[in-house]
Amino acid sequence: MEIVSVIGSGTMGRGIAYTSAAAGFITYVQDISESALGTCRSYIEKQFNRAVEKGELDRETADAAKNRIRYTTQLEEAAQDADIVIEAVLEIMDLKIEIFKQLDKIVKPSAILATNTSTMSPTEIAAQTSRPERCLALHFFNPVPRMKLIEVVCGLETSEETIERSFEFGKALGKECVKINEFPGFATSRMNCLIGNEAMNMVMEGVGTVEDIDKAIKLGLNHPMGPLELADLVGLDTRLRNMEYLHKTLGEKYRPCPILVKYVKAGRLGKKSGKGFYNYN
Ligand code: NAD
Repeated sequence: MEIVSVIGSGTMGRGIAYTSAAAGFITYVQDISESALGTCRSYIEKQFNRAVEKGELDRETADAAKNRIRYTTQLEEAAQDADIVIEAVLEIMDLKIEIFKQLDKIVKPSAILATNTSTMSPTEIAAQTSRPERCLALHFFNPVPRMKLIEVVCGLETSEETIERSFEFGKALGKECVKINEFPGFATSRMNCLIGNEAMNMVMEGVGTVEDIDKAIKLGLNHPMGPLELADLVGLDTRLRNMEYLHKTLGEKYRPCPILVKYVKAGRLGKKSGKGFYNYN
């Protein structure tokens, strides 16, 4: 595998692109939004500079990695030579299906099509292509350069070869992989969304302040981050879409907390908008 294509340059796409280029892959990043691509480029350049300052990379290696990244708004340019495509657009099933249909017509016959969905069915997305055996979900975690895990989520038709190649790819990125059989929310998101939603319900019930609930979970349950700061990092709009999908597929216990719904309506999307459960300005 030599060429990686990342579709969507938001929170996850930019992290996947950085990690891929740093691991030596020629990496295309595509987005429909020029401004999102601009933000992505500055994030990636900052990450490489930071890695040099911290002594994790020398300047020459960082520059070489940076030069392996191509930014484009054209899907065809981004995907036509790719060995693996990772879709990281919004958590909307119809949008993912539409992109997979287009990719199916563009990519090489051997290319793997992966979705970075947090919750949704790779089987449903794959069924709209002519290559369901080469489709699956590769679920990365935020922030991608630092988080060790990739959930390799197999759809009904995903072939053993695709799974093996995905594990090799994960290893080349320096990640640990687990093989998960498709079920809404996989192994991580169904648990994480539930914890986050419960914390939001506790805020609503007046159990404690945002800070104290996060502190209780961090220090009492030994979580590295509080569930509310984590939701802010994920993006509250993304989290709401995850909850809505899990509510639809897994039932009542995943009903999104009304505070989450209200914050998203108000444009409080967490860290990316400057305000969520915490204030970042
Ligand atoms: P985001 O909103 O930060 O970024 C989405 C990007 O997709 C935007 O830049 C947008 O311009 C772009 N986009 C929209 N339509 C497009 C199209 N048709 N073609 C190309 N680009 C398009 O979202 P995100 O948080 O990066 O989430 C992306 C995916 O990753 C979602 O499926 C989400 O559930 C999943 N995910 C998110 C996290 C997280 O912590 N945020 C973690 C794991 C997985």
